[in-house]
Amino acid sequence: MRILLVEDEGDLAAAVAEHIRGQGHAVDGVARLDEAGAALAAVDYDLVLLDLQLPDGQGLDLLRRLRRAGDRRPVIILTARDQVRDRIAGLDAGADDYLVKPFDLAELSARLGAVARRYSGDPSPLRRVGAVALDIARHQATLAGERVELTAREWALLEALLRRPGAIVSKAQLEDALYAFGDEVESNAVEAHVSRLRKKLGRDIVVTQRGLGYRLGDEAPA
Ligand code: CA
Repeated sequence: MRILLVEDEGDLAAAVAEHIRGQGHAVDGVARLDEAGAALAAVDYDLVLLDLQLPDGQGLDLLRRLRRAGDRRPVIILTARDQVRDRIAGLDAGADDYLVKPFDLAELSARLGAVARRYSGDPSPLRRVGAVALDIARHQATLAGERVELTAREWALLEALLRRPGAIVSKAQLEDALYAFGDEVESNAVEAHVSRLRKKLGRDIVVTQRGLGYRLGDEAPA
């Protein structure tokens, strides 16, 4: 996923960004509402992590503005323990979930996965493509029952395709899902990841639509 992190506490922002990157997602971090607004206008983020108290205003104002404009991108708000009223207001304003600081990073991962699945309309964490079974929640892949280890980026690429079953996803969309601003992107990075996924999970896991992009191989019912 491509995630926007809006958080002005530097240490927390750095720890969260590092953790999310470690899970194979691309993260852009901003510390102010105006920067968040500009980033959201420019990039089709899959998910937003939104702190409520920011130097130039309230995160809730940004959330209300997004929802009023019909923007349904999932938002998880980050609140302090004593801000119960903020949490309720956040959910009322259209947040998908909230995390209370200080939160456990494993908890963050679980919430990210849950919100992303709900958003893609697929609450089932187990998906099948041919002889491949993918447990999205646990990041476990098996081929004909044998466990296959995938890198974080390989998972991120698979997830980008799994979120749009049957749809063709362009190379640019996949790069957007895999890399944040300022990341060095090799021109053949997507092809290289697809090729490694095919070596590990079989040729049919990803289908190339020449000139258009890629799609997930045909799914079997889970
Ligand atoms: Ca803050």
